[in-house]
This record gives sequence, structure tokens and C-alpha cells, in this order.
Amino acid sequence: MQMIVGSELKGPSDGGWMDVLNPATLEVINRVPKANVEDVEQACAISAESQHLWSDLTFDQRKKVLAQIADDIKANMDDIAATITAEVGKPLGEAKHEALACASTFKFFSTLDVEEEVLNDTESVRLSVIHRPIGPCALILPWNFPFALMGWKSAPALLAGNPLVVKPAPTTPLGNMKLGNILADRLPKGIISVVTGADDVGKALVTSKHIRRVSFTGSVETGPKVLEGIAASGLKKVSLELGGNDAAIVAKDFDLSKVASLMWSSFRNAGQVCIAVKRVYVEEPLYEDLVKAYVASMDGIKVGNGAEAGVNMGPLNNLPQLKVVQNMVQDTKDNGGTIKFGGNTLMGQEGFPGYFHEPTVCTDVDESFSVVSNEQFGPIVPIVPVPSIDDALDRVNSSRFGLGGSVWTNDMELARRVSEHMQCGTSWINTHMIVEKNAPFGGVKASGIGRELGRWGFEEFTEPKTIYMKK
Ligand code: NAD
Repeated sequence: MQMIVGSELKGPSDGGWMDVLNPATLEVINRVPKANVEDVEQACAISAESQHLWSDLTFDQRKKVLAQIADDIKANMDDIAATITAEVGKPLGEAKHEALACASTFKFFSTLDVEEEVLNDTESVRLSVIHRPIGPCALILPWNFPFALMGWKSAPALLAGNPLVVKPAPTTPLGNMKLGNILADRLPKGIISVVTGADDVGKALVTSKHIRRVSFTGSVETGPKVLEGIAASGLKKVSLELGGNDAAIVAKDFDLSKVASLMWSSFRNAGQVCIAVKRVYVEEPLYEDLVKAYVASMDGIKVGNGAEAGVNMGPLNNLPQLKVVQNMVQDTKDNGGTIKFGGNTLMGQEGFPGYFHEPTVCTDVDESFSVVSNEQFGPIVPIVPVPSIDDALDRVNSSRFGLGGSVWTNDMELARRVSEHMQCGTSWINTHMIVEKNAPFGGVKASGIGRELGRWGFEEFTEPKTIYMKK
């Protein structure tokens, strides 16, 4: 598959090709070019030259195109979902959900009200704010929800009138190329580029003088490097959506018949979700019963190739991520923790050629264990007893992470208090992981800066401009 430079397909200049593997089978399913610095610069320069072809249109004209893109995604749903499953590893049902979520993001931004805001209107003065495009946007993506996240970034950036240069994660470029081709068919020439390759392509993009805005989703380790790249190459607007270590705080009155919902908040997409529940804190009186019910509910997990019917948990996406999970299991054992369920690598066993790992639960652990204090981004979760809800809240707030968090209780007053005081971008009550298109999404502390989705996400792709009119 070729990359897209200035809306046109392009093979590699001198970097050659890189293989894309199916993480469930380890078969090569396709290949993409390794872009070099010149390819990236060419894409960015064309973006800057072509910007006016898109930014000169009215909001209504651009909205119409976004609505058409939403329809195109839906029309190609089956092909897109099969591609997502093949390169990410997630079950087909979840891949369809991801494709639909992307279509509905384009639909949402195709109907967002963007009005001039009048702040003062007197006999002598009219003061108002309008939203202007920023310029070429670099959209840098991770591998866990590549298709949906390209939609989260592209739709508001395009509504605002900006051209795009997209950088997929090295292991998951194929769905992004498919969406890139849909965009290339609908947008004026030069407005979309998708440059494929390894991390150096992201570095080159961030430092290009043509790029005016960087929207990055990835790990807490890479986020600061993106800031360094920006600082070294001139000012750019930036948002960073980084990793999380979301906690679920479970009160002693929690209704155990709802435990499967709590459990799936950790194991969806084999735990490779930025806002998965990555540690469970439970009030001591409920601890033993909760662990028993939680582990029993894991009978419902069927691990396998996501393309097969009945499978609801796929492999890890890549070998380094499988190693992170293996190391956490080992660290837990070495330091006296208990592997209450699972704990084994499946890769290499019959029927599991790819990066498979058993869903795993750890107990007898606390914040001194890596599995509690770091992001696992895989199918392993610790359950930790706490003397009180406030103790759990202290543990959550002393973490460097701050993406999401949840509280599970029938006491709505308690839930409201905890959800307000949890230091994170989104707090859920009796659920987790639900993201609505009209609400802001993002993290605090090491989990990031800036917000995506809703009018907040749109505004981050604009320059608010003040117009002061003396009458
Ligand atoms: P990563 O940070 O390794 O890579 C993300 C992207 O950045 C890739 O495309 C990579 O090639 C590129 N990149 C790497 N180094 C770069 C640099 N110096 N400059 C510019 N680009 C560079 O992350 P990953 O392993 O692909 O994704 C997993 C991480 O993403 C997890 O930590 C997860 O929590 C996080 N994530 C966060 C959100 C969110 O919305 N907060 C959503 C999904 C995933």
C-alpha cells in the first residue's frame, strides 16, 4: 500500500518498505513505505500551499464534506473493520464499533454550531470572536484505536479549515491509509497527506517549519519528546493525549451482580485502551467477595484471533507490549504478589501463534508494585483492598497519571464528591470508558495537555480571533 503525499499516492523515496503484521497470526498482511525527511517535508509544504483551497470555503461547505466522509466510512464499514482487526488484533465486533465511532465523529462535527460570539454590542462598539484556521496540522497516532483517533483529530481540524499531515503508528498504518484515501477523494487536492514509517517520521513532522499545530496521542514517555521537538523548531499549538493509569474505586455497597461491567472495563481490546481500568481499589469489607466474583466473571473471556466468531479478546498488538505485560507478571511474583488468575503467555502454544497473553488478575499488591503504579496497557489488572474511599482517593491523586477514573457505589452523594475530587480529565460513576462526542476528552498531569472532542476539541484546532469594531 502506498502512502499519500499531497493527496497523491506515493511509494518510498529511498527508505524502502516496511511490513505490516497481523498480531494474531504473525503473517505479513501488507507493506507501506518508510517515508524519509524529504517525503515529510514535501507533504508539509504541499499542505501549506494548498491550505487556502479548503480554508476559503465556508463552515457550511466544509460541514457538507464532513457529512459525506461519514457516509463514505459507513459504506466501507466491512472492509475497514476487517482491516482494523487484521492489523490491531481486536475482535471484529469491536473493530466495527471503532469504524462506526469514527463515522459518528465526522457526523458530529458536520453538525456543530460554529457562530461568531458577540461579547459587547453597544451604540459605539461591537466586540466579537470568530474562529480562524491555524494552518497545517500534524496528527500523530498510536496503534490501539488508530481509525477512531484519526477521526477524533481529522474531523474538528478539517471543520476549522486546516490541512492535515497524518502519521500512523508503525504497526497500524492500513486503516489510516484507507481513511486517508476517503479524505483524498472528498477534499481539495493537497489537503490530506498520510506519511508512513517509524518514529523518526513523527520527529520530522513535529519539527517541520510548515506545521502550525501538533495533535499527538501516545505514551507518557513520547509526549515530552514531542514538546522538545516543538521547542527546538518554533512555536506551535499542541495537544498531548497520553497514557493513563485509571483507577476504579469500589465502595463496600457495590452491587456484585454488576461485576462483569467492571471487569470488561479492564479487558476490552486486551487492556490496550488509554482509559481502561488499570487498577481496582475496593473497600476492605467487600474485598474477598469482589475478588471472587470478579475472577468468576472472567469465564466469559474467550481469547483468540479477533476475526473468529465468539472471540472477545485478541492478542497484544506488538512484541514490546507483550513484554511489558510479561515483565509485570514477573515483577509481581518476584515481589511477593499473587497471580490470582491467568499469568501465562499464550504465544507459541497451539492455536496462539501471535502475541497472546492470558487475562490476568494480581492481588496482594500495592503501589510499590509496577502493576499498580505504572500503565500496563495489556490484559493484567491488580485488585487492591483499601480501608476507606478517602484512602483510595489519596492513592489515586498521588499518582503521576490523570486521564480518567471511576467510582462504583449506590451512594450518589459519595460518588459525586469522589468524582469531583479525582485528579483526572473524566470521572465516571458506575461505569468507565464511555466517551461522548460532545464532551471534552483529555488528561491532567502526566496524562496530557489539551482536550479533544466537543466544541473544546474544535476550538483547539482554531485561532480565536477578536474583532473590535468602533461604530
Ligand atoms: P508511542 O508514544 O510509542 O507512539 C505514538 C506515536 O508517536 C507513533 O505514531 C510513533 O511513531 C510516534 N512517535 C514516536 N516518537 C516520536 C517523537 N519523538 N516525535 C513524534 N512522534 C513520535 O505510543 P504507542 O505505543 O503507539 O501508543 C500507546 C500509548 O498511547 C499508551 O500509553 C496509551 O495510553 C496512549 N494512548 C492515549 C490515548 C489518549 O487519548 N490519552 C489514546 C490512545 C492511546
